[in-house]
Amino acid sequence: MTAERIEGMEWFKSLIKRFGVYRGDPTTQELEMLAETQVRMQLVVKTRWMLLILLTCYGMYAGGFMYFSGNVTDLQLSQILVLGGAMAAVVAYNLFYHRYFRELSHFVFINHLQILLDILFVTILIHYSGGALSWFWTVYLILTLEASFLLERRGDAWFIGAVGGLTYGALLTAEFYSVIPPLRMPLIDPALQHNFVYVMLLWFWVSLMNGTVAIISAYLMAIIRKRENDLKLMVIKDQMTRLYNRAYFFKTLNSEIQRSLRYDHVFSVILLDLDNFKKFNDTYGHLEGDRLLKGVAQVFRDNIRRSETEPPYDVDVPCRYGGEEFAIILPETPLQGGTEGERSSSINAMAFAERIRRDVERLDIDGRTATVSIGVAAFPQHGTTPDDLVKAADDALYRAKHGGKNRVELAAE
Ligand code: GH3
Ligand code: MG
Ligand code: MG
Repeated sequence: MTAERIEGMEWFKSLIKRFGVYRGDPTTQELEMLAETQVRMQLVVKTRWMLLILLTCYGMYAGGFMYFSGNVTDLQLSQILVLGGAMAAVVAYNLFYHRYFRELSHFVFINHLQILLDILFVTILIHYSGGALSWFWTVYLILTLEASFLLERRGDAWFIGAVGGLTYGALLTAEFYSVIPPLRMPLIDPALQHNFVYVMLLWFWVSLMNGTVAIISAYLMAIIRKRENDLKLMVIKDQMTRLYNRAYFFKTLNSEIQRSLRYDHVFSVILLDLDNFKKFNDTYGHLEGDRLLKGVAQVFRDNIRRSETEPPYDVDVPCRYGGEEFAIILPETPLQGGTEGERSSSINAMAFAERIRRDVERLDIDGRTATVSIGVAAFPQHGTTPDDLVKAADDALYRAKHGGKNRVELAAE
């Protein structure tokens, strides 16, 4: 569900607050994460359609084949009915996901739940097609593979692989001891189900295969995600300071404005320019100048807020605006006073800027020090467009420079 559509739905919002991927209104980064989850969910829904079509085709093929070869009498009507019913249930929940994946993507464990349901379905399929005699256990492998690209963490593929293996083991055990009466499978000797050695060997092999798929897919996904991430970072980050670049600053500024307009929130922007940096370069050389820039970037990283998620993401967005000019976007942050609510932290933009100024002043690079001048502006009082906000902060920065440098100035109303 897009952010606009959930706006008026208080009950849905409170559900999200309780069980959702974010606690309050989503940040820009959380919305990006949601979009990613939605793409993956769509992929899984598609895979499930494909699997259903394949199973149906296979069912028709196998049914026809057995009918014409006279084996169909081995199959009980109840088996066919339950299998059909289970398929219908999967069609129903896949239709549901197909239709509502946007809304559902807001909930944390929805994807785990999807795959666990699939495992349940596959186990039913296996039981009604002969338990230890059924070869539908191969579908567990597909689910393990699916888990590795649908779920966030590497451990999730392992988890799903283990659940598949254990469920299968439980089914085989229950059938072995006739806790659930085993069903016959045409063409195969039914006594095999009660052959301890056969059942143990089968289970071990299935678990081994499942583990192998988990290893391979976790490894593949780790490579793919790392590359994806590297590429993404290369596009949005400055190579030298590893801060976000100017393009990303404007992109984020834009979405922060949209988000804050929509939810009636405030946020702040600060612009920073190193003092007398030309002189620093001239005195110590450009390489030392570069080291100072990296040191200042580290000061930003040490001061910004991060989410408590794993992996954490930056809540504040520190950027290299130009050569020795920087900008930091502080979402949900007023100029003065503290912020209330879920993301509460006693931070305000002026205090944050002052802390940065002080930490840059304390920065010591082999005995060389520097200072920074800072201009602070806030949405909406100093502007409601990127240009107006940057202009307001820039004017304040200009005043800081002319007021003697190494100071923080607030934009004029
Ligand atoms: P002010 O206090 O008024 O800001 O004085 P300033 O000397 O800092 O003046 P200005 O902002 O115009 O100086 C920018 C200097 O930053 C000029 C340029 O040589 C230097 N610079 C820009 N990018 C880099 C960089 O990547 N590395 C290094 N070492 N220097 C850079
Ligand atoms: Mg400058
Ligand atoms: Mg400067």
